[in-house]
Amino acid sequence: MMLENIRIILVNTSHTGNIGSAARAMKTMGLSQLVLVDPVQPPDEKSTALAAGANDILANLRIVPTLAEAISDCSLVIGASARSRTLAWPMLDPRQAGQQLADGALNKTVALVFGRERTGLTNEELQQCHYHVNIPANPEYSSLNVAMAVQTLCYEIRMSWLAQQETVVSPADENEYPPQASMELFYTHLEETLRQTQFLHSDHPGHVMMRLRRMFTRLRPDNNELNILRGILTSVQKSSRNS
Ligand code: SAH
Repeated sequence: MMLENIRIILVNTSHTGNIGSAARAMKTMGLSQLVLVDPVQPPDEKSTALAAGANDILANLRIVPTLAEAISDCSLVIGASARSRTLAWPMLDPRQAGQQLADGALNKTVALVFGRERTGLTNEELQQCHYHVNIPANPEYSSLNVAMAVQTLCYEIRMSWLAQQETVVSPADENEYPPQASMELFYTHLEETLRQTQFLHSDHPGHVMMRLRRMFTRLRPDNNELNILRGILTSVQKSSRNS
């Protein structure tokens, strides 16, 4: 389960409630690994209240004194930043960040780092990250509550992870899609049928056939669906012969 390889790090958080809200945000998206760097106060009953059903994440969190320690075993570190600083650094948008983290987590530990409520991450901390990610919020009011930023970015991680699950199962599915040669036979059959019904009668069926090809390419029928389509064509041919 690769979502376990994604570590959410909160640096020097002031409000213990935010720690609980972040834990809840993580759990809704399937993440579980929370590390606090030098929190102003350790998690307390406010954290527990706001974590709601995510107390297991609070129970398992680790507290370390520095960001360097929190990321020492991570091969990819992305820092969430509300502003683009004077510091020019490789930037990702949330979707790209979600993708990088989901991909990286397939075989190693990766981290997403969030800053202090009031002052964010220091330049020194930002420089320990491979990339920065910015949520393109309202430029006139772009600073999200830290737990909301955790929610937003964890959602993007989850979307990438879900897409990954689909591609992971697709090699098995691959056999279920017809080879291109079968699609060509289908297009021939389709054109033949459409001529027979006189839907196509010009000497230049190319335009319509091109659009139909494009549509079926987009649809990507599987073998069963293609068999149904061929069956429909055959039935249309039979009944138009009989009429
Ligand atoms: N005034 C601070 C805001 C900190 S908000 C600043 O300018 O940095 C607390 C944390 O939430 C930030 O350090 C960042 O990790 C995250 N965050 C808030 N808004 C964000 C946004 N628009 N994009 C990315 N991260 C954001």
